[in-house]
Amino acid sequence: MAEKLTPMMQQYVDIKKQYKDAILFFRLGDFYEMFFEDAITASRELEITLTAKSCGMDEKAPMCGVPHHAVEGYIDKLIGKGYKVAIGEQLEDPKLVKGIVKRDVVRVVTPGTNMNLQSLDAGTHNYLVTIFQNIAHYGIAYVDITTGDFYVTQVQGYEKVLDELAKVQPREVICNNTALCNEPLMDGVKNRFKSFVSVQEDWYFDLERSTEAILTQLKIGSLEGLGFSDKIEAIKASGALIEYLNETQKSQLHHLSHIRYYATEDYMLLDLSTRRNLELVETLREKERRGSLLWVVDKTKTAMGARLLRQYIEQPLIHVDEINQRLDGVSNLFDEPMYLMELKEYLTPIYDIERLMSRISCQTANGRDLQAFKQSIDMIGPIKILLENLEADYFSAIREDLDDLRDLYDLIDQALMEEPPIAITEGRLIKKGFNEEVDLLRSATTDGKEWLARLESKERERTGIKNLKVKYNKVFGYYIEVTNSYLNLVPEDYTRKQTMSNGERYITPELKEMENTILGAQEKLEALEYELFVQIRDTLKAAVGRIKASADQIAKLDVMQSLADTALKENFVRPQVHNDGTIDIIEGRHPVVEKMMPHDQFISNNTYLDQHEHRFSIITGPNMAGKSTYMRQVALITLLAQVGSFVPAKSANISVCDRIFTRVGASDDLSSGQSTFMVEMTEVANILRNGTKKSLIILDEIGRGTSTFDGLSIAWAVVEYIVNIHTMGAKTLFATHYHELTELEGKIEGVQNYCISVKEQGDDIIFLRKIIPGGANNSYGIQVAKLAGVPDFVIKRAKMILEELDQADITKHAESIKVMEKPEKAEDTQLSLFGNISEDVVEELKGFDVNALTPLEALNKLAQIKKRL
Ligand code: ADP
Repeated sequence: MAEKLTPMMQQYVDIKKQYKDAILFFRLGDFYEMFFEDAITASRELEITLTAKSCGMDEKAPMCGVPHHAVEGYIDKLIGKGYKVAIGEQLEDPKLVKGIVKRDVVRVVTPGTNMNLQSLDAGTHNYLVTIFQNIAHYGIAYVDITTGDFYVTQVQGYEKVLDELAKVQPREVICNNTALCNEPLMDGVKNRFKSFVSVQEDWYFDLERSTEAILTQLKIGSLEGLGFSDKIEAIKASGALIEYLNETQKSQLHHLSHIRYYATEDYMLLDLSTRRNLELVETLREKERRGSLLWVVDKTKTAMGARLLRQYIEQPLIHVDEINQRLDGVSNLFDEPMYLMELKEYLTPIYDIERLMSRISCQTANGRDLQAFKQSIDMIGPIKILLENLEADYFSAIREDLDDLRDLYDLIDQALMEEPPIAITEGRLIKKGFNEEVDLLRSATTDGKEWLARLESKERERTGIKNLKVKYNKVFGYYIEVTNSYLNLVPEDYTRKQTMSNGERYITPELKEMENTILGAQEKLEALEYELFVQIRDTLKAAVGRIKASADQIAKLDVMQSLADTALKENFVRPQVHNDGTIDIIEGRHPVVEKMMPHDQFISNNTYLDQHEHRFSIITGPNMAGKSTYMRQVALITLLAQVGSFVPAKSANISVCDRIFTRVGASDDLSSGQSTFMVEMTEVANILRNGTKKSLIILDEIGRGTSTFDGLSIAWAVVEYIVNIHTMGAKTLFATHYHELTELEGKIEGVQNYCISVKEQGDDIIFLRKIIPGGANNSYGIQVAKLAGVPDFVIKRAKMILEELDQADITKHAESIKVMEKPEKAEDTQLSLFGNISEDVVEELKGFDVNALTPLEALNKLAQIKKRL
């Protein structure tokens, strides 16, 4: 009975032991093979045939394989399904080794460390995130290894972690054990972001180890200069992230040369549902870019600019100075459209320098990558000259930091052929005049080829064989070919090498000698060219810090260009941004809805909100009148202003908001298993707990998922709480069908009624889309139903019922409700440990003597209590 694994399978098993959580691609000649469990999984996921290989044991080992030249596609497919792939390479040339070739894993590819640019979206980052949790404190670090962007922050509370992740959209998350056991956090990570999550042991997050990892990666002596030397969770998250990269990438990633720490409070806070509701980077339902805010404002020319603009939109500013600096930049270009056009022209040919740089750093860049890089940095010179003409401080700062990388340009220009092949081992890389030896070897090969041509005509003449040919193939090298009709003329000194159906192939000593010279030179040339290429690439690699800095500046310029271009094309104006508490928009428009409509059809509207009389607008009007569009438009204009963008309006005065909250329509969070009403109330709770007087709140129809009286009561209490300056006093737009709420105007300071006007025309209504002061006096639900095509007989019957119901007017009751002067503050009400379990149950539980009950009695008591809940 065979029991011992073959040596090769033993090698496989030994390596596999170290990579239990990955699928091992084991290089065997031209294939990567998978065995055992891995083979079964991979054959199913990749739809490739499962075979078996004898492995020394009685039973054969399940096996499947993929050809090495197509491996990227298969890896992507597995990564896309959430697997990790360990690439086991041959570390020696099999031709030179007797016995088993040395093999080891050279890289582990995971969803967050995929470097295959073909499978990544150029305009989006591919982030790998670590979350380190210590009780309620969290460190969050994230990196995109294809661009070198590395950030870290620290927050309190898992909701804040989810808010941050919403910005980052992680592909892969690594966390410590505590975070893994944190159910609401993991629920969010897995369900909302569809991230691939793995846990690492606690030593991974050890403070000393983490500090060491950061210092080594950044090649620095102390954490002081990084701005988070006292932030333990941030250090641990960053350290663990580096540790994970070292483990999976097996080589240091030189382009990760800086970690940026930021405080979440330095940016406008946006929770996940607000981001989604406002459709910042994708639409709510179809998850498409078209129809999102980004879709309207993204006129970037480079991939780096596209990624940065997305980041700006996801992370609006709150410091007026910073916002104005950006706005000054946009204004400058807006006022100088000629320079804007010129800038666009220079940016257009620039490739994704960041991702090229990461290929250079990881030694995967080929000749074409270097040419693309050269072409891109060639544009920096003219850009710098152009920047001299722009006065805004924003641009002078960019110009100062923008390195034209001329030395790198010159190096590539002098050394590298203009159109190099994809492979870097087959020569045709190095330009004439760069290296003497290359020139000598190359002329040896070309001279040799000329010599062969001469030999051919000389031999034709000598032998009289008119169609004699000197040819080459890989098996025989150079040979002379004679067709059958001339065989009688073949001279004595030809040695026959092969017989073909139509002729014979010969060699001569003279020919073989020349072959040695030519092939020898060719081989040496290819090796030398490869060596020189690698040297050039290494020189570039040593400059990754400079390259990244320039790429960052180009991204900023591109964003400015895009915002100015949008302002011109979409007819936006510069907002006045300040801190005086007022939002005053004249003829504001919804940037996306407007763009989706035929030209000039969108009706603009004014908005005025302040911290006094006009804090809270109650907006009524029939369905389809344009309430949501209007409210979102105010949120988007405010957000755009804080991004540093111009805004769709005739004029806009925007006081900076610390947060925007939205509670809009039916939530899409149904996958979480909660009812719509429950989700709605959770969102309302979040707003009530976290809103401040500097927040902007958009509430669309709260309290709809329950009975009218319940809903109205909740809505009423929510208004009282938000509008009161002792409890919150946030600027709020509140759309509602409860016309009873219009009673609040005049009763509570700060509340104003608005409605969206409609015109009655006989039995029908026409939407005018204009917002006007006052409450709507009719819901026109039946008219809207008619517009939607509900059959006539149902419409008629509905009208009859409505008339009868009108007799029982609940507005009468609403008039008599007294407004609460001072609602209790959220912090004042202590949360009971038992949440909403009724007090008598708690009392009863307290009274139990657990030791005196039999298990059956205990069970019965439990069942009784459950019935009462
Ligand atoms: P509501 O929230 O009142 O039910 P919506 O805001 O969803 O209404 O608007 C319904 C539709 O009306 C929108 O999809 C849009 O096509 C159109 N609309 C809304 N506001 C405007 C406007 N200001 N100008 C032109 N069309 C508008």
